[in-house]
Amino acid sequence: MTIYNLGSINADYFYAVPHLPAAGETLAATSLGKGLGGKGANMSVAAARAGAHVRHIGAVGPDGGWMVDRLMEYGVDTRAIARLDTPTGHAIINVDAAGENAIVLYPGTNRCITDQQIGLVLSEAAAGGTLMFQNETNGQRYAAETAKSLGMRVICCPAPYETSALEEVISFADLVILNEVEARQHRDATGRPIGEGTNLKVITTLGAKGCVLMDNMTGQVQEFGAPQVTPVDTTGAGDTFAGYIAAGLDRGHSLEQSISLAVRAAALMVTRHGTADVIPDLKDVQDARF
Ligand code: AMP
Repeated sequence: MTIYNLGSINADYFYAVPHLPAAGETLAATSLGKGLGGKGANMSVAAARAGAHVRHIGAVGPDGGWMVDRLMEYGVDTRAIARLDTPTGHAIINVDAAGENAIVLYPGTNRCITDQQIGLVLSEAAAGGTLMFQNETNGQRYAAETAKSLGMRVICCPAPYETSALEEVISFADLVILNEVEARQHRDATGRPIGEGTNLKVITTLGAKGCVLMDNMTGQVQEFGAPQVTPVDTTGAGDTFAGYIAAGLDRGHSLEQSISLAVRAAALMVTRHGTADVIPDLKDVQDARF
């Protein structure tokens, strides 16, 4: 089947600076790095590297052609990425000598996706397909409701966390994947754990401790450990994890089997520097010796 991923596409600009700039200060960066980023793009690449057919629903501006090319090169179906007249989403990431960072994020075209664009793409989707999304674009509610009515599997990754955005879509979701911080933000904001009183399955990722799966229908809780590795860069680990889960389910694997593979993929990811460019493929994950 196809995984439809409604997701952000960002250009990440990394500036190495001696210290984070203060108000009014002009500071020379010692180097500049540029890469493909955005949780959405990362998840599309991860699911494609895991062997799935992934159609990315998103938007870029006139400056975003190279990002679409990169996604295509990485095996993502880019035909549902709109080309608009607004600047593409981008992140200005200042990193100081101690590795601390300060980020300015401009959402750009990621917030210009229309329901019409989503509807047109999903009109080709079939029951049994998957919709996944994060919280860096617009259009999630329309997409989730449409996908549910088509009998698709709906995977919600509520990152970055925002209570009102999550509440709009949660009744359409089958599975929520979030990290410990987001789970805590939800509890603090609403006073209850995510999915309480629903049939939702919820995976909470716990960094080096792996993840926990809560089945709200049966009340069953299962813990999954992570392989022991020496992490060098944890950026993109959660996105890799989510992409591998979507791909596993799409392949007809159980959620437990999908999680077992996803924790291996994410563990391998934290041993690598970088994001979309270095997300491991299925063979790397299967061959990895932990
Ligand atoms: P996080 O977003 O930090 O919870 O990480 C997402 C997933 O990446 C976790 O559920 C783990 O499977 C994996 N992961 C993150 N950090 C590590 C680590 N230090 N060692 C092994 N796996 C990790």
